[in-house]
Amino acid sequence: MKSKKFHKPANEIQDLQFFGEFGGVNPSISDSATYTFMHAETMLDTFEGKTEGCYLYSRHSHPSGKYLSMALSRMENTESALVTGSGMGAITSVLLHLLSAGDHVVSSRTVYGGTYAFLKNFLPKLNIDTHFVDITKPDLVEQAIRPETKLIYTEVLSNPLLEVADIEALSNIARRHKIPLVVDNTFTPLIFTPANQGADIVIHSLTKFINGMNDMVGGAVCSSKEFINDMLNVNDGAAMLLGPVMDSLRAAEVLKNLHTLPVRMKKHSENALFLSEEMEKRGIRVKYPGLKSHPQHETFKQMMNPEFGFGGMMTVDLETADKAVRFMEKLQEMNVGYLAVSLGYFKTLFNAPGKGTSSEIPEEEQAEMGLTDGLVRMSVGLDFDIQRTLDKILKVYDEVSSVKTG
Ligand code: PLP
Repeated sequence: MKSKKFHKPANEIQDLQFFGEFGGVNPSISDSATYTFMHAETMLDTFEGKTEGCYLYSRHSHPSGKYLSMALSRMENTESALVTGSGMGAITSVLLHLLSAGDHVVSSRTVYGGTYAFLKNFLPKLNIDTHFVDITKPDLVEQAIRPETKLIYTEVLSNPLLEVADIEALSNIARRHKIPLVVDNTFTPLIFTPANQGADIVIHSLTKFINGMNDMVGGAVCSSKEFINDMLNVNDGAAMLLGPVMDSLRAAEVLKNLHTLPVRMKKHSENALFLSEEMEKRGIRVKYPGLKSHPQHETFKQMMNPEFGFGGMMTVDLETADKAVRFMEKLQEMNVGYLAVSLGYFKTLFNAPGKGTSSEIPEEEQAEMGLTDGLVRMSVGLDFDIQRTLDKILKVYDEVSSVKTG
């Protein structure tokens, strides 16, 4: 780990130097499920977590996963990391590792639908309750903490409403109550380094920007050495016992794609800023953290690593579900991108989260948090000619809505 001042996440990735077994420029991929020991005693020590650089069994850890974990921990400026077979694998393992029956969680109310469903519907089966709060109001977070509260959970930039959590303020609250702050940084890799603002555990869905190719699902947990080792403990570690492991081949692929992440994030941000500024100028209701009109624009600026911009995610409010559907179908017809869930792809993706990725959130709660049926979430791609994309979007918008933008 480096001091905040000297931690430059893109350089951390650039400087990774892993040699392959035969001098390959990419580290060798281990395709073994189990590993041999020359001495039985070393095997015992490995079981007890006393050895460095030894592998026991690939559900526990494997070399390709280790390389990727090292890379991600350097990027996130944490001591250690582990990788999982999906983002939900990372989220559920962390929560189940930290929580027991009778415990309580304080969570942001605007989180990914799967995370919301796990907190709201699954954990109560284990007698674990969650209080959902407006995360942009730290006072409400503190008020919601009870003696049984065991963690605070939030996304830094929330899905799908793009609300920004003030990580330093939340971390101060967590410290006062001696509980960990768990943060999902999926929307904003490199842009934010939440550990530098005091987050204890940083989670990613690697499926999104980090891998960037939409050809796999994966997740990661970045935290202290103690916490990661605990999660991998053969006797009671959730990452060992629940089996959320990432496959070696996939880990090797994500590691290669991680090397282009700094360039990709810059371009996603540049394109999304251009589109949102131009659309806002024409009176279209867009939300993007890079716009001054975004309610947490200043909070974002205070926390960000400025060289990566404000990210690739924006929303457009089409007012009704019907218009949102027509807008998305026409955008796809015009080849602006795909009507698809997920994000962080090289092509633009769009969907209406109210009826899709956030449908787990009951309608009345969606209304309360401002998640309307007409809201379209866009993950802006790496388009080389973004002016051409803007022209297409404006044409579609004019056709679908009554507001003329031309
Ligand atoms: N976190 C966020 C912010 C997400 O948007 C998603 C998926 O959409 C996840 C976590 C879950 O990740 P995965 O689909 O890799 O399990």
